[in-house]
Amino acid sequence: MAIKKMTPKKADTKKTAAKKADTKKSEPKKSASKKTEVVKEVQKTSSTKDMHGFMKKIEARNPGQKLFLQAVQEVVETVWETYTSNPVFVKNNILERMIEPERVISFKVTWVNDKGEVCVNRGYRIQQNSAIGPYKGGIRFDPKVDESTLKFLAFEQTFKNALTTLPMGGGKGGADFDAKGKSEGEMMRFAQAFMQELFRHIGPHTDVPAGDIGVGAREVGYMFGMYKKLANEFTGVITGKGLNWGGSIFRPEATGYGVVYFAQEQLKTIKESFKGKRVAISGFGQVSWGAAKKASELGAKVVTLSGPDGYILDEKGITGEKIDYMVEMKLSNRNLVKDYADKFKVPFFPGKKPWEVKCDIALPCATQNELNEKDAENLVKNKVICVTEGANMPCTLEATYIFQKAKILFAPGKASNAGGVSTSCFEMTQNATFSGWAGSEVDAKLQDVMKKIHQACVDHGKEKGGWVNYVKGANIAGFMKVAKAMCEQGVV
Ligand code: NDP
Repeated sequence: MAIKKMTPKKADTKKTAAKKADTKKSEPKKSASKKTEVVKEVQKTSSTKDMHGFMKKIEARNPGQKLFLQAVQEVVETVWETYTSNPVFVKNNILERMIEPERVISFKVTWVNDKGEVCVNRGYRIQQNSAIGPYKGGIRFDPKVDESTLKFLAFEQTFKNALTTLPMGGGKGGADFDAKGKSEGEMMRFAQAFMQELFRHIGPHTDVPAGDIGVGAREVGYMFGMYKKLANEFTGVITGKGLNWGGSIFRPEATGYGVVYFAQEQLKTIKESFKGKRVAISGFGQVSWGAAKKASELGAKVVTLSGPDGYILDEKGITGEKIDYMVEMKLSNRNLVKDYADKFKVPFFPGKKPWEVKCDIALPCATQNELNEKDAENLVKNKVICVTEGANMPCTLEATYIFQKAKILFAPGKASNAGGVSTSCFEMTQNATFSGWAGSEVDAKLQDVMKKIHQACVDHGKEKGGWVNYVKGANIAGFMKVAKAMCEQGVV
C-alpha cells in the first residue's frame, strides 16, 4: 500500500472570522444548573445522592475547568456502580485518586520571533496516571490550550491507553502557541524552547509524548532533536518520528484507520458493513484523512469534510486524488476546507457543520464538542446507524445521551481513536528492540488491537436486549484495569 505522509503540519497565515466564532464553541456553553431535559432524564436513572456529593467535591477542587469536569462526569456516571460495589476500590479511594493527576507541570516557554521580539508562552505536561506504564499522550500546540483542556485529554488518555491492552499510562501536554502565520524558523525555535524545559520531565521509561493538534512530524522532529542534544542519547522518547529515524510505518494513518476498524466491528454486530454506506466526516486533518482513506477503501462513499470555515459536500465521493488533496490543504497554511470546493467544484456551506447531511455513518474527527445536542437530533432524524468518534470528546454529553436514547451504535473516542496511541506503542517497541516492522505487520497488529478494544466494550457494555453501551463498556473496562493496578501498588 502506498503511504502518503500527512505531516509535517505547516503554519497557517489567516485567521478567519468563522474560526474565531468556533473558538467560543470549544467549551460547553450550558452551566451545570441549566441542564437540558435529556441530561436530567439520564442522570435520574444513573446517579445516586452520593455520586452528586462526589462530583461536587471534584468540581470544588477544579473550579471553572469545564472540559475536564465534562470528561470526569461522563466517566463517573458510568463507573459509579462498579466502583461503589467493590469495597477494595472504595477503601483505597481509587476513583478520586484516578481523577487527580499525579503531576501537573506548567512552565514558561520563551523564544525569539523573526522580528527579534522576545515572546512568552505557557507550556504544560499533565502526568495523569502511571499505574500500568510510563505516561503516554500527545502534545498539542493550539492557542486554546489551557490546564482544563489538557487535564481532560490526559484523563481520557488514561482510559484509552488501558483499553489498548498495552503497557502505557496516561499523559498529555502542550502549549498555548498559535502556529498560524509562523515561519519555519519560528516553528523550530518554539518547539526547541518547549523541549528545553520539557526534557527534564520525560524519558523512555518515564513519559513518552507524541503529536496532536498542531504537532506533526515536523514539530516532533524539532523536539526530538533538542531532546537528543540535551540528554545526549538517542532513545524512543517521543513517537510520531520520521520513518528514517525511528518512526513506525502507518503512524500517520493509524488513528483514522483504527477509527474505521472499530466502526467496522460495531457494524458487524448488526450484520452491516461500510460497503455502500454514506459517510460524513468532519475536519480535514490527520485523523479525518486516515478515516476517509480507509472508509473509501472499504467501499463506503465519504461525502463531507469540514474545517473551521464550514463544510463541503461531495456527492460523487471523496476518493483517490481528492483524499491526497486533503494533505495539500493542510500543508497550504490556509486551513480552509473551501479550497476543496473550489478545486473539485462541489457545494460549500460556510459556517455550517456536516451533521445536517443525510448519512449512515458519522465520524467526527476534528475537535472537542463539535457535535452538540441539535446535531445529534439531526443525525438521528436522518437515520444515522453508527457514530464513531475520531477526535477526543467531539460529542457533547447531551449529544451522547441522544445517541444512547436512540440506541444507535455510538463509540467514544477513548475506545475508537486508540489506534494512534497503539501504533505509538508499536513504535516504542521497535525503538527498544532496534527493529523496524513491515507495514503489513503494523496494520495486522492495529486491527487486532481495535478488535480487542471493541470486544472489551461489548463485554462490559452489553445491555438487556443486546444493545451495546460503548461509553459504559469503555469506561468500565479501562477503569477496572487501572483500578486493579493502583490497588496492587499500594497508596502511592
Ligand atoms: P489536525 O491538527 O491534523 O487536524 C484538526 C483539524 O480540524 C485542524 O485543521 C483544525 O483547525 C480543524 N478544526 C478545528 N476545529 C474545527 C471545527 N470546529 N470544525 C472543523 N474543523 C475544525 O489534528 P488531528 O487530526 O491530529 O486531531 C484531530 C482530533 O483527533 C483531536 O481531537 C485530537 O486530539 C484527536 N486525536 C488525534 C490523534 C492523532 O494521532 N493525531 C490520536 C487520537 C486522537 P485548527 O488548526 O484551526 O484548529
